[in-house]
Formats: sequence, structure tokens, C-alpha cells
Amino acid sequence: MATAGKVIKCKAAVAWEAGKPLSIEEVEVAPPQAMEVRVKILYTALCHTDVYFWEAKGQTPVFPRILGHEAGGIVESVGEGVTDLAPGDHVLPVFTGECKECAHCKSEESNMCDLLRINVDRGVMIGDGKSRFSINGQPMFHFVGTSTFSEYTVIHVGCLAKINPEAPLDKVCVLSCGISTGLGATLNVAKPVKGSTVAIFGLGAVGLAAMEGARLSGASRIIGVDLNPAKYEQAKKFGCTDFVNPKDHNKPVQEVLIEMTNGGVDRSVECTGSVNAMISAFECVHDGWGVAVLVGVPHREDQFKTHPMNFLNEKTLKGTFFGNYKPRTDLPNVVEMYMKKELEVEKFITHSVPFSEINTAFDLMLKGEGLRCIMRMED
Ligand code: NAD
Ligand code: ZN
Repeated sequence: MATAGKVIKCKAAVAWEAGKPLSIEEVEVAPPQAMEVRVKILYTALCHTDVYFWEAKGQTPVFPRILGHEAGGIVESVGEGVTDLAPGDHVLPVFTGECKECAHCKSEESNMCDLLRINVDRGVMIGDGKSRFSINGQPMFHFVGTSTFSEYTVIHVGCLAKINPEAPLDKVCVLSCGISTGLGATLNVAKPVKGSTVAIFGLGAVGLAAMEGARLSGASRIIGVDLNPAKYEQAKKFGCTDFVNPKDHNKPVQEVLIEMTNGGVDRSVECTGSVNAMISAFECVHDGWGVAVLVGVPHREDQFKTHPMNFLNEKTLKGTFFGNYKPRTDLPNVVEMYMKKELEVEKFITHSVPFSEINTAFDLMLKGEGLRCIMRMED
């Protein structure tokens, strides 16, 4: 490769300040160092997590920063010690990694890699504590080890899943975060049995992917909960049988759900990021066997408050990053679910814009319109 070992100049969307529109800049991307890979991003999408760290309201402000973590691309070059990937491989970057060597990676139960688990405040590479992006010598911070809002980015090899090269990257890029997260939260963590009643809090892409998991598991009743009434129509396509808007009731939504279901839901999955929704999602599960799974990213200062009697009454509370999937081991199989038509991703992709119009994707998410907006790097 002509570019291997050299600095690449390319376009990236830089977040200079909290809440200010991103600006497309020419950045310099340094070559990958030991155990790193430089990836040419072809498609990237916007997830709500990017928006939280861009707004930096309840999160640590780290600027100037190149956000983005849901994407698909092709390996351009690899650094020293990388043996699993080679130029030309098709990859999905993941915000949490898999070193394959630590106790978590060796455990069948965990995807919380000691070395590469999600770190939202670090803006540099773990190898040498430096950034690989700069503009006229000024470093730009990375985001969750991926920074996919750039035509080229440098990622630790442990945060890249090598996928089937036949899989269309403009579709499967959404499996690199939101869809796998929601799907896995239901299939791997909540594990509803056939005929269950499942409540999904938050009907964005992550919540609807969790709903897809409930439908695939054979849940007979799927209750969607969202503050935005417009979300119900879309959710019906994902198997939503009932809809509850907490704003339509003058009592806590958990009480409404317990009444509707004669004692509580069998499983609930929270995909909102609101701590109140997290508490409701826990309290609405049936005593004796109900399980609630938290997926939404809370504010830094949030506290979860519930009466301990809920636990004594045998309600279970769990949480998960990336739906408990191990990025390198499991994500290629999720892509195969799509290739075998067991999983449809097209219905999550409601918008597509050229990369230069990235701020449109932010506007859509802030307005609560659509599910995923794909940004095409090469247009
Ligand atoms: P989204 O904005 O598209 O969807 C969130 C939905 O929640 C919206 O429809 C909104 O109206 C609804 N909502 C907000 N507050 C609510 C409340 N109190 N009660 C009911 N509904 C409420 O976002 P998304 O991209 O689908 O992401 C959902 C959440 O998942 C975010 O918090 C995101 O950061 C998080 N996330 C977590 C992981 C993980 O690994 N744990 C991965 C990806 C995303
Ligand atoms: Zn590990």
C-alpha cells in the first residue's frame, strides 16, 4: 500500500466545543503503532452516545474531539505485532474491545475486557497515551477508541471485528454498536422464554433492536414505552403489541405496567439513558422471576434509587455493554445472522447523507426523527 507508514491527510468531522455543530476539517492521521490498525471508514452512523459526549451535559467534556463509533471500513495498514488483520480486510470497529488474553476475555460470561473495555473519558491511544489525529500539529482527541467520523482512523486491533467481505458495509455498519447492543441485551442477557411479556423502554434503534430480540425469542406480548408518541407507529413493525407513554398517566409508569400485566412483565430492557426510566424498568418486572436489563448510558452524576425489598421479592437487575457480545469472537456471527436473513437491518436505516452533511444526522437525532442515519464517506 502506497500510504502504509506515512501520514494520511483526509477529512474528519471535528467537535471543537460542546454542542457546537461539527466542522469538516483536513486532519493528519499518523500511521498505526504497535497493535494498532489504520482503517479507511466507508460508512458511519450516529448513535445517541455520540450525541451525549458532544453535548457533554452530563459527561466529561473532552475537546477538540473526533466522535463516532458505529461504522464499517477496510483495513489500510497495520502496525507492528498485528497478525489477525491485513490490508483489505473488512472490519467493524467496536467501542469496547477484546484482547483475548485477560480473565474477562477468557470467561464465557463476560465481554468486559480488562485492557480494552469502554472508556469514555480517554481521548488517546492506550499504547503510548498519544493521539493519532492532528491539525497543524494540534492533537485532536479520540472517542471510545474508534473515532469513526473521519475518512481514516487508527484503532487498537482488539476493537476491530473482521467480518465477511461479502457483507454490505453500508448496511452492516449499524451492527457495530446500536443494533447488536439492543439485540444482545435481549438474547444474551434478558433471555425471555417463548410466550413471555417483555417491556422495552426507549424506542430508538437500540430499543427496537432489543424488541427484535424479544420477537425472535417468541415473546407473545411486547410493550413499548416512550415519551414520544410518534415512536409507536414505527415500533409496530418490530412486533410492538402495546404502547405506553408515561406522560399519559398520573402515576409512575411501573404501576401502569404492573396493572396491565397482572403483576409485572417477565423481562424489561431499558434503552433510554434516563435514570428514571431505569428505575421504572426495574420496578415493573414481576416479583419471583422478573429480570430488568439496563442498556442506556446514564449521566455521570446519576444515582439509581429503589427499595431493597424489590430485590428481596426476587426481582433481578442487570446491565450490559454491547449486549454481552465479545466484539471479535461474536460480532462476525451477528453479521452472518444478517447474511442468512435471520436478522433484518434495513428497517433500522431511515436516513442516509453524504459525510459533509453530518450535522443533519445530529439534528434528526435531537428531534427524535428516524432511527439510524448513515453517513457516506465517499460522496
Ligand atoms: P435514541 O435517542 O434513538 O432513542 C432513545 C429513546 O428513548 C427515544 O425514543 C426517547 O424518546 C426515549 N426516551 C427518553 N427518555 C425516556 C423516558 N424517560 N421514558 C421513556 N422513553 C424515553 O437513542 P439510541 O441510539 O437508540 O440509544 C439508546 C440508549 O442506549 C442511549 O442511552 C445510548 O447511549 C445507549 N447505548 C448503550 C450501549 C451499551 O452498550 N450499553 C450501546 C449503544 C447505545
Ligand atoms: Zn481482554
